[in-house]
Amino acid sequence: MKYALVTGASRGIGKAVALRLAKRGFCTIINYLNNHEAAEQVKREIEQEGGYAELLPFDASQPQQIEAAIDQWESAHPDEWISILVNNAGIRRDNVMFMMSNDDWHDVLDTNLNGFFYITRRLLKHMMPRRHGGRIINMASLSGIKGMAGQVNYSAAKAALIGATKALAQEVAPRNITVNAVAPGFIATDMTKELPEDELKKMIPAGRFGKAEEVAALVDFLASDEAAYITGEVININGGLYT
Ligand code: NAP
Repeated sequence: MKYALVTGASRGIGKAVALRLAKRGFCTIINYLNNHEAAEQVKREIEQEGGYAELLPFDASQPQQIEAAIDQWESAHPDEWISILVNNAGIRRDNVMFMMSNDDWHDVLDTNLNGFFYITRRLLKHMMPRRHGGRIINMASLSGIKGMAGQVNYSAAKAALIGATKALAQEVAPRNITVNAVAPGFIATDMTKELPEDELKKMIPAGRFGKAEEVAALVDFLASDEAAYITGEVININGGLYT
């Protein structure tokens, strides 16, 4: 049995990724922060389709919670390990920089960037020695490539995540572990529901926001055996907005 941990899988892109990976046959571990009912619903949807899912709540910005949750998971699964990790949990706290609070800076860095570090380091302990390979997929953003006004904190976090993806990919390639980033543009989820979609979609060559399921299909491919030779890449999925 191959286990896949998806952080922030109660809603949005993470939910679509969890559903898709479960369909591929992975045992899916659904992480979330607070939204227990939504996470239970994702688990039920996976089970209704004949898949297997578990819930593993923790705050991706809190290293002690991560350690405790993964310790507990390992005690319950002494012969198993997590071979696919999708670092998807993310938040945004937009403001122009001259008005940005310390909390808005640190909260965004802690969840979007430091969470990647704490969780990935912990899981590498088991991916590295086994030589069975692994997949690490980091949810970056167009904002981390292009930079977006009003998102200095978020752009910084996602740009750093891209740098970390490229560096880690080189460290772990000899162990058959791939590390890639996905950089969505505007995707219709709770995170973007307050944005002026009609205005913004005029800027997008494809003329619409993307769907969470479209991002999930890309993550699913990167998690597959067929993607074994793709590593250190950042794959844009933005309807032509950036290039
Ligand atoms: P979303 O709909 O707001 O969902 C966020 C998810 O992350 C929820 O499951 C939430 O859990 C979880 N989460 C938030 N903080 C967490 C924490 N500290 N620990 C654990 N889980 C946490 O967001 P989304 O649009 O699907 O975005 C998913 C990822 O894609 C993020 O990394 C985001 O930056 C990135 N992204 C999104 C877009 C877009 O247009 N939507 C574009 C580019 C990149 P609860 O339900 O418990 O709150």
